[in-house]
Amino acid sequence: MQVGRQPVSLAGVLGFPVGHSRSPDMHNAAFRALGLEWRYVKLPVPPELFAETVRALPRSGFRGANVTIPHKHAALALADERTPSADAIGAANTLSFFEDGTIEAHNTDAPGFLAAVGEDDVRGLRAVVLGAGGAARAVVWALQQAGAADVAVWNRTPERAKALADDLKVSAVLRPATSDLLVNATSVGLEPRLDEAQTLEALRLDQLDPPGIVVDLVYDKEPTQLIAWAKGGGARTVDGLEILVRQGALSFERWTGVEAPVGAMRAAAVSR
Ligand code: NAP
Repeated sequence: MQVGRQPVSLAGVLGFPVGHSRSPDMHNAAFRALGLEWRYVKLPVPPELFAETVRALPRSGFRGANVTIPHKHAALALADERTPSADAIGAANTLSFFEDGTIEAHNTDAPGFLAAVGEDDVRGLRAVVLGAGGAARAVVWALQQAGAADVAVWNRTPERAKALADDLKVSAVLRPATSDLLVNATSVGLEPRLDEAQTLEALRLDQLDPPGIVVDLVYDKEPTQLIAWAKGGGARTVDGLEILVRQGALSFERWTGVEAPVGAMRAAAVSR
């Protein structure tokens, strides 16, 4: 063993499947940009092996992990410590591993969303959030924290919108209405491929014009149909890739304690 050499620190993304993830490109670009001896790997783990795999990570050189579908609830449940935001949202996308084996759960989806949209730009707005899954919960919580004047939730399955709305003390609506800010936190926009009219119909937006700001958590190589519709109507748009970059940057900073090179992370995420 060479004296004075530090072992490489590891981080990774836990999901199932995880092959599509851009997080390794993004984080490894950040480590390279700053000359940090870290590596970020894909960790495809089926739900039945999640808890035992995560428990073994701290002893295997891992300092942190991102968590994606379908493990965000399980990650919160198994952690020894939870940040207040992760607890309130009910999901964790960031785990930190400490030397004594402690696992901390945190959520950077919410502050990542606000960083991408601009926290000050949200204050006082009437917002409509589409979706009632984990991403929608993080967005609703973030909008409340940032002082949105009103937050309404629409979901294909209305019972889930009602449950989310009751939990986070916002309103559930049976159809999206006119607003200042529209956020798509459903998975509509990737598979199956829909054209613009089908996308608007699936999201019950076919009778509406785009509001001033439209955010799509879904991202693709090309602008999504929702983003194209919004741009066509003159809206300011924020795409899912920017939110991915911002949540990743916040996870990076939590693990390394170093300011994230957001430009390098964005370039790596876009070029994938
Ligand atoms: P999830 O828990 O699986 O929720 C999926 C949501 O999409 C549900 O509200 C579901 O409605 C709705 N949905 C699915 N198919 C639909 C359809 N054909 N028509 C209308 N609604 C439909 O997923 P999630 O974790 O919340 O993530 C949602 C999306 O956000 C995913 O595409 C994910 O990739 C994206 N995301 C992006 C980022 C980022 O950094 N950019 C971060 C987190 C998530 P029902 O309840 O009716 O099934």
